[in-house]
Amino acid sequence: MNDLNSLLETLASKPAQAYLVIGHNPASFAKNFIAKIYCPRRCGSCSHCHKLQTGTHPDLFWVTKSGKRMSIDQIRELQQQALYAPLEASKKIYVLEGVEDLSLEAANSLLKILESPPSFLIFLLLARSQNLLPTIISRCQVIKLPKPSEETIASGLRQRGWKEAAIEYLLSVTRGNEISDDLQPSRNILEERDQLRQRLSQTTDAELWESLRSENLFARREANLEILRRLRRWNVAETLRAAAALSDCPTEAIRVFIEEATYWCRDLLTEGTETTRFHRDGSAELAAIKTDSTKLAEALRALETAPWKWQRQNANLQLLLESLLFTLRAALA
Ligand SMILES: [Zn+2]
Repeated sequence: MNDLNSLLETLASKPAQAYLVIGHNPASFAKNFIAKIYCPRRCGSCSHCHKLQTGTHPDLFWVTKSGKRMSIDQIRELQQQALYAPLEASKKIYVLEGVEDLSLEAANSLLKILESPPSFLIFLLLARSQNLLPTIISRCQVIKLPKPSEETIASGLRQRGWKEAAIEYLLSVTRGNEISDDLQPSRNILEERDQLRQRLSQTTDAELWESLRSENLFARREANLEILRRLRRWNVAETLRAAAALSDCPTEAIRVFIEEATYWCRDLLTEGTETTRFHRDGSAELAAIKTDSTKLAEALRALETAPWKWQRQNANLQLLLESLLFTLRAALA
């Protein structure tokens, strides 16, 4: 029995009234947990098992977002319904998916029922992050689900017919995380990447900055890499303009640029000595760049401290980015 199964076993034998489940695939964890609560042996043939399989269990309520986030109306409706006793089981279970996106109003409404729930109620709040009202968290038992290893993700993709090179690229873009549902990569992802690179290599600097704001993870990554390539040939005036343009980008885009540059420098620093790379699809390109390891280490330090200086010390963002880009340029030249 693996760790997750034994955890389920222990929890289901005497469930608490509210759980916050964060991390990898919380919905699948919730389904197993609920099945164990309703039928500890998971016989597969009783009325509970049957109704769970067909999605018709009258005491299970699975609430998903109706729009971009869970609405206050959904929570209000839940608040009223939840007070009625269960029909067939001893417990009535509410699963709320995506609670990290709750509005303050909805969160406060949910808090009311979490404060004094009837004894037959169990709440399973599923979230991607712990970005929730502390008062909600404090009323829940928090379960953090471990992330699968890269090898597990890769073998899952292999089983679904993905080719090795595409898997390497996907893992490189997602930094070894799972491919989220909203990413939906196409099977021609490598051809699309090459076309994207080709197109980005011919765009103006201004268009390149615009691409940093893209919703598409692949487009953002390639735009960041193109900036790092251009940085090596930009003159002083162009580098200053770049710092100004970058400082105008949304905070998240600047953070991602710094992250991408950090991984690029780390790859360059370990080039030829390690097999694991962040830019696994770019080894030929990385190998062709002549670098000075002292300057690279300096650039890495600057990149790693930049977010801290910027957020905690209120440094002037544009000046900070100017200094960062010049340090980077010196390391990559
Ligand atoms: Zn059963």
